[in-house]
Amino acid sequence: MVVGDISTGTDVLVIGAGPGGYVAAIRAGQLDLDVTLVEKDAYGGTCLNYGCIPSKAMITASDLAHEAGHAEEMGIYADPEVEMGEMVGWKDGVVDQLTGGVEKLCKANGVELMEGRAEFADENKARIVHGGEGQGSETVEFEHAIVSTGSRPIEIPGFSFDDDPVLDSRQALALEEVPESLVIVGAGYIGMELAGVFAKLGTDVTVVEMLDSVLPGYEDDLARPVKKKAEELGIDFHFGEAASDWEESGDGITVRTENEDGEVSEFGAEKVMVAVGREPVTDTLGLENTGVEPDENGFVPTDDRARTEVDHIYAIGDVAGEPMLAHKASKEGQVAAEVIAGEPSALDYQAVPAAVFTDPEIGTVGLTESEAEAEGFEPAVGQFPFNASGRALTTGHADGFVRVVADEPSGFLLGAQIVGPEASELIAELGLAIEMGATLEDVAATIHTHPTLSEAVMEAAENALGHAIHTLNR
Ligand SMILES: Cc1cc2nc3c(=O)[nH]c(=O)nc-3n(C[C@H](O)[C@H](O)[C@H](O)COP(=O)(O)OP(=O)(O)OC[C@H]3O[C@@H](n4cnc5c(N)ncnc54)[C@H](O)[C@@H]3O)c2cc1C
Repeated sequence: MVVGDISTGTDVLVIGAGPGGYVAAIRAGQLDLDVTLVEKDAYGGTCLNYGCIPSKAMITASDLAHEAGHAEEMGIYADPEVEMGEMVGWKDGVVDQLTGGVEKLCKANGVELMEGRAEFADENKARIVHGGEGQGSETVEFEHAIVSTGSRPIEIPGFSFDDDPVLDSRQALALEEVPESLVIVGAGYIGMELAGVFAKLGTDVTVVEMLDSVLPGYEDDLARPVKKKAEELGIDFHFGEAASDWEESGDGITVRTENEDGEVSEFGAEKVMVAVGREPVTDTLGLENTGVEPDENGFVPTDDRARTEVDHIYAIGDVAGEPMLAHKASKEGQVAAEVIAGEPSALDYQAVPAAVFTDPEIGTVGLTESEAEAEGFEPAVGQFPFNASGRALTTGHADGFVRVVADEPSGFLLGAQIVGPEASELIAELGLAIEMGATLEDVAATIHTHPTLSEAVMEAAENALGHAIHTLNR
């Protein structure tokens, strides 16, 4: 037990053990750097404990329950009973397995693990306050620091996450009982993913969104099949509505919203989940003691080597800005560690994929057609619908398409957008193609296994070249 204030030193102090921080620490260990990783809550960060992994576990489980109960077309008649406590227990088991693995991997790579909350004392020293009474604190002197403190959900006025019926995504993913009804504020990716989970488990879901569509930021034709399926699941959408407050009423609550004309609407529910975005955790770190200054949104500006304006302090992951995605955090962590070790590593954001795990899924990478035009390219676009894919039809999920965007004169792949089954997996092939400088010809000439969903990627490339076999060419 650590009592009182002691002092230690390290080459690299990594603050925060999410997918940014723990990856940076492991990579630094592999490069023989003396590295200390400090975490105040749980190894694996938001991603493993409260974000990517638990949400995907609940999506898989709710999909299974829903599909089993809706497969009459295939001659399957079932009425699955959901034991929410057990489902959440299974999800927690998956999380535990992964977070335990992170701890073991860190140790095996020589990473010194430290539990506690870090705060910079100056640009070469941090104070680590250990949790629990009598645990004390210690000072760590460092040559380099990597800030990877992640993000937290944005709270909106009138909806405190401390109030019982008001949930953030983390609390929603830990519910031990399926709520009868749920209002979700925000139709971004977290709101839409969890709207699907609860609707499939039988909750009466209402989504209120200030903007005029689901998944703001994604192209209309990608978002449309997601909204259509959500409506088929019974999800009730109200656009142009800003949540203003809530009050207890009867057995549940009433959530009030206001549109731009000031008209008020009321929605009754058992609970309300607010998912209006996330903000970086940079205000509780003592950054002001180092000379590193966050921008007006709280993000820490960095260069292509993940360095902040203070040479030996790096920032990675959600604190370093959009896109706030786990794999982007990990890549930045690897680069930061390699740069500290003196390697010629740098970040390249040309091909950062993104996935939305709705039904159907969305996967994107690189440029859209309009972004390509705006950047001065002459885009060639090819598309292949999943309803022309033999494999998609055999899965019972044939909504959506694969689209590829290339530079017409050179044929180089610039981007891709997929909405449909396994879009989150299929997008990887196109990420690799862009990363390797592949052309439409390269993708079209690659023999794809039959029958697979990935044939749709090949056919989209062939379509852009004017010779797709299983769809009419543009
Ligand atoms: C519901 C949900 C679903 C998501 N799904 C996906 C998905 O499918 N795919 C995807 O790519 N991304 C997803 N994300 C986003 C993803 O979780 C984040 O982009 C990712 O976790 C960022 O990693 P990070 O290392 O920057 O920060 P985090 O994972 O947030 O980790 C930061 C860590 O720092 C610790 N910390 C903070 N301050 C201190 C301090 N002062 N001292 C010590 N420790 C500190 C925190 O406790 C935390 O463990 C999802 C997020 C949510 C909420």
